[in-house]
Amino acid sequence: MPRVRILVAVAIVAAAAMFSLSGNWPWPRVRETVHIAEAPPPPPPTHVESADTLHSGETLSELLDRNGIMAADLSGLAQTLDPRRLRAGLVFNFRKPIADSIPDRMTVRTSPEQRVLMVRAANGWDTEVETIAWEPQVFTVSGTINHSLYEALDRQVSDSILGGGAREHLAWALAEVYQWAVDFTRDTRTGDHFNVVMERLVSEEGDVRFGRVLASELSINGRDLPAYRFDGHFFDDEGNSLKRAFLRAPVEFRRISSNFSRARFHPVLGRTRKHEGTDYAANTGTPVMAAGDGTVIRAGRNGGYGNMVEIRHRNGITTRYAHLSRIQTRVGARVTQGQQIGKVGSTGLASGPHLHYEFRVNGVAKDSRRVELGNGAPVEKSKRGAFEAEREILQRLLDGSPEPDSAQPALVAQAASRT
Ligand SMILES: [Zn+2]
Repeated sequence: MPRVRILVAVAIVAAAAMFSLSGNWPWPRVRETVHIAEAPPPPPPTHVESADTLHSGETLSELLDRNGIMAADLSGLAQTLDPRRLRAGLVFNFRKPIADSIPDRMTVRTSPEQRVLMVRAANGWDTEVETIAWEPQVFTVSGTINHSLYEALDRQVSDSILGGGAREHLAWALAEVYQWAVDFTRDTRTGDHFNVVMERLVSEEGDVRFGRVLASELSINGRDLPAYRFDGHFFDDEGNSLKRAFLRAPVEFRRISSNFSRARFHPVLGRTRKHEGTDYAANTGTPVMAAGDGTVIRAGRNGGYGNMVEIRHRNGITTRYAHLSRIQTRVGARVTQGQQIGKVGSTGLASGPHLHYEFRVNGVAKDSRRVELGNGAPVEKSKRGAFEAEREILQRLLDGSPEPDSAQPALVAQAASRT
């Protein structure tokens, strides 16, 4: 057999030599020639770039004056730059020819999607509005939750995928997806797990921001909670909407999430002898939302409850929101789920600012976090097929395999090793 091996080896070398000589090497090759030449001296700069920031109380023409654009006709600019959007801190970039004292070009980013450009023309300035393109990129991120969702995402999603601020947006978005299923202020336990397919947006200038949650698998306190985005809403494996008649927590996660990385929410703060609700410690002024659609039946002082709102819902259910610093509804008002009805405070018998929330069925207090809310509405029959196709793609992405036949190449990365 050794002779056969030698023959094979010789044949390979000969074939390689032929390919090489004929210049028809069948595979792309690394370029070997490196041209070492004296780099020509860079051409002298023709322009100087500078940036300036709009100070508080300053007008646009004051800023332009300071940068050499004096008495410019700003009528074109005024049409595109909404004065109400001209907030302090807005950064203007100028380009000035070396041989000139006046810039010939000015740009300002007025929003993530828009840039206003001023170019010096023969007589005055031309103003143009440019749209900044953001390209979506898809990532799968996963990890364990030890203290809170926010802390977990902040610690385990790498900076190369999303910056700190954008990770906070991801946490808010996830909390929103599960707002009917999970009370993130208290339901999470050590060992919980997240696996999320998310979209980030990258601008042509290289800025990165959070886009959308596309799918997610959370394992929270022993419950597996899949979610697939379809038609702008989220559905479970069976195609039932995640939306329910009641929110799990009637306080905005995003308004309290900043506390999350440092201190976990702890139940009261002065537990009374007979405590029939759930307490959410939050800063005074944090918005309080109606947990479900209903009619306000009480709005005012109520003894130890302090400022209290009570809402009557369908099926004999009522909810109470107590210790409010402000009430933002009135008796008889119809409210919808998520609508702001007041602000967290410490009125009545409260040792510190918190929301006391009660969920009652036919007058009997229930644990709002344990109440069975039934199934959400299913995907419309006519859209069932489309949903299943979408779910399959998203499941593959959750598993970490790139989406096949995608028009837009999906970029998949594991933010953290699965444990
Ligand atoms: Zn309480």
